[in-house]
Amino acid sequence: MRISRHGPHLVQLTRYPTVFPMNCYLVLEQDGLTLVDSTTGSPAAEIAALARDLGLELRRITLTHAHGDHAGGVAGVRERFPDVEVSIGERDARLLAGDKGLDEGEPQTPVKGYFVKIDWKPDRLLRPGDRIGSLEVVPSPGHTPGHISFLDQRDRTLIAGDAFQTRGGMAVSGVLRPLFPFPAFATWNKATALATAEALRELRPFCLAVGHGNMLHNPVAAMDRAIEAARRAFR
Ligand SMILES: [Zn+2]
Repeated sequence: MRISRHGPHLVQLTRYPTVFPMNCYLVLEQDGLTLVDSTTGSPAAEIAALARDLGLELRRITLTHAHGDHAGGVAGVRERFPDVEVSIGERDARLLAGDKGLDEGEPQTPVKGYFVKIDWKPDRLLRPGDRIGSLEVVPSPGHTPGHISFLDQRDRTLIAGDAFQTRGGMAVSGVLRPLFPFPAFATWNKATALATAEALRELRPFCLAVGHGNMLHNPVAAMDRAIEAARRAFR
């Protein structure tokens, strides 16, 4: 795992940074740490070492969406830290439980991507506007029907999961980047993903943290270009 610190509140952990980067994040709070996403395998050992160094305990795990490269590591982390609260958006909790059915009123395109069978249940289901410490839950459907992002109210860092990627070139979910095409292959509905990208841009984040690729500071201009490219690609 590559581990990098970004400002006072955020640590990025990257599994397979050179070949197939998958990020998860530790968010530092007064009362301890929140893990956002978990990659495919357990990051428990790295988290234990970081928690010791920081003098903070892991309190919570939350997920941007149900795909296996975000939810797969949760089981191992729960085993090592049995008291943590695990949360995910209400809608993607159904995907996590194996139900790929769509609701009336949702675009009827198939849910895509890779899922793992899990033997745990989330402790808390999140809705737009809910808070996890300093993080506000922002709806960001498109990549999956119930994808959520997290806006840190202290410094406007946006943890956007797979709503955007920065690996292989900055892109909105659903825009195929040949050097890293996997998030596009796993995207449920492109029009919804584009509307989400526009809404996230309006939050004017100070920093963008995504599931695949490096952090981006002052990302709004790059988000604008990615949105423009998506409009052309999805036309
Ligand atoms: Zn995904």
